[in-house]
Amino acid sequence: TGWSETWTWIDGTWHEGNPPMMGPRSHAAWLGSSVFDGARVFSGVMPDIDLHCQRVNDSAVALGLKPTMSVGQMVELTREGASKFSPDKQLYVKPMYWAESDGPGVIAGDPDSTRFCMCLFDAPMAPEGAANSLTLSSFRRPTLDCMPVNAKAGCLYPNNARAMLEAKAKGFDNAIVLDMLGNVAELTSANVFMVKEGVVHTPVPNGTFLNGITRQRVISLLRGAGVTVHERSLRYADFQDADEIFSTGNYNKVVPVNRIDERQLEPGPVAARARQLYFEFSKA
Ligand code: PMP
Repeated sequence: TGWSETWTWIDGTWHEGNPPMMGPRSHAAWLGSSVFDGARVFSGVMPDIDLHCQRVNDSAVALGLKPTMSVGQMVELTREGASKFSPDKQLYVKPMYWAESDGPGVIAGDPDSTRFCMCLFDAPMAPEGAANSLTLSSFRRPTLDCMPVNAKAGCLYPNNARAMLEAKAKGFDNAIVLDMLGNVAELTSANVFMVKEGVVHTPVPNGTFLNGITRQRVISLLRGAGVTVHERSLRYADFQDADEIFSTGNYNKVVPVNRIDERQLEPGPVAARARQLYFEFSKA
């Protein structure tokens, strides 16, 4: 199939590969009612797995879906699924809810038709030394009254995808996306930080972007290590003359930036420290 090794739990059964799970009348496939989360299993650890499982339930509620799984059940399924893979694999863990029953219209006809799957697959993380180039996106994050931006919902990602496509077309790895007020929100699927004179700055959650679990973890680890972290409104210009920029997200954890527009940046000591603190925390 071309998919890396994959295991998916649906309705009590583990399936190998990528089993079909929606049909032409599934509300989620038709009208976008799906939510998911992303977490990691590597070297036998599952950093903040409980928070990711709680968030998928919160995302479900935000879209009017009915979560059917407890955090404990999802964590147990993660453990069970991970045991099917060779222990040296770096796994992506994706719990997901979707509405199955179709219309009458924008809402799922049967509110009890919420379904769940837990999908794990082999997905190596960006290696040590990886770095990204960034440019400014011409697309923006919607506000909470326009889209459920507090949820991790599939329906939000086409907007992020066009920001990413635009960045790639210009020769960059990723984009800085602004909110409606013109403040920096995040990258296309990661939060963003910058460093000036040893002090870390990152956008303050204002309802327009995902307050990432990795973001929150990295802030508390940096503060615990004595680094000052300010959460505040930031403009693109603040990033253009930063000493360092780095991103956080469950997929690749902490990754430095090596270029913003035409300006080269050295991946620096604060990003390296944040990455090291994260992986030390993960092992603990
Ligand atoms: N913003 C968006 C839009 C994302 O998709 C992600 C990845 N989940 C993040 C930020 C980072 O969040 P987290 O650290 O919780 O993965």
